[in-house]
Amino acid sequence: MVETKGYEFYWNIHEGGYELVDNTLYEYRGKVTGTPFDKYYADRIFFHTELLARRRQGESTATYVDALPPWLVLKETRVRLRELELIKEGKMPADDLRMPIPRRKGYRPLSDPVLHRKFASLRTEALETEALRFANKYGLLGRAVRLHPVKLVSQTVKGESLYRWRAEIDKMGVLLAIWDWVRKDDAGKLGQIIIWPSPESVVIRFKWKSLKGEYEILPWPEEDFDVEEEDQSDYSSQSSYAYVEDLLDEVLPRPKKPPAWFKPYRRGEVVGPARHYLYSMINYHLREITPSLNPWVGGKVDFRPRALLDALWLMFMLEVNGAIRTCFYCGGPFEPTRKDNIYCSKNCKRMAHYYTQQKRGGKP
Ligand SMILES: [Zn+2]
Repeated sequence: MVETKGYEFYWNIHEGGYELVDNTLYEYRGKVTGTPFDKYYADRIFFHTELLARRRQGESTATYVDALPPWLVLKETRVRLRELELIKEGKMPADDLRMPIPRRKGYRPLSDPVLHRKFASLRTEALETEALRFANKYGLLGRAVRLHPVKLVSQTVKGESLYRWRAEIDKMGVLLAIWDWVRKDDAGKLGQIIIWPSPESVVIRFKWKSLKGEYEILPWPEEDFDVEEEDQSDYSSQSSYAYVEDLLDEVLPRPKKPPAWFKPYRRGEVVGPARHYLYSMINYHLREITPSLNPWVGGKVDFRPRALLDALWLMFMLEVNGAIRTCFYCGGPFEPTRKDNIYCSKNCKRMAHYYTQQKRGGKP
């Protein structure tokens, strides 16, 4: 049994499915919070607080990624826009407009305890196909913005940017990869990215890249590293390099004035600071989960994610907290029979040992 008791969440999927529209048809005219970049920067996703959690400033505001085309919209959108244009040109009687009937079906995302891992392993090289497949099955993330047709005056639609998808997939993929080291207590790997420049400061610094839904965390090279002038403006570029730095400075209180509750990490310790960083990043994403009284269950208090994206971060939180158990080898959910079980099957255990042996250069 997966322990998602105390959390309640329904989400709707449009039965007709979704499609993509670009800026030849629609545009975002609302406000953008923070800096309005005109292209996507994979290396900024861990820095921009507006990307870490959406500020609730109403529908008309969005972060810069939400304003970048293309957007996922309801499937009939393009046909309907064409019909509206024909009516306006007098080439089609207004009565013939086929207004789509929204058909929505609800489901409970929390019943799939590893949905966050499925999301984070979408292959961003084929993002259009992958995001459409995921959206048709699980719905939009809940970060849609209002879009205006480029040519017509009225008839706005709601659309969700593929760049928002890219940013969220990358963020979760990177953090899950770090979590996989933290939960294995892999001080060797973490020692490459958690650095103590002085006894008073600890930083996390890494490069990362993704390929076919797998995220690789790499040490930041000592020598001057020129970020390859890879075109990251494409939401489906082959791989992404980016780095994160000094974030622990923000996260960890300065040891000079440690608050009473804070036990400073000893210099050189890497697993603790990595865990601390991970917690704070996840916490940023839990701000849209609020308690509410459930009128159908005698006023019991449920915690409700606001949208699918918030539910995905909630599932990540539940995995980190141990309520959702996933296999150390395949990432699949499982029911441990003993407290120290870490693999879902004998096969996964065998495979994990095989790869450990291979890395050590020994015979498998
Ligand atoms: Zn497994």
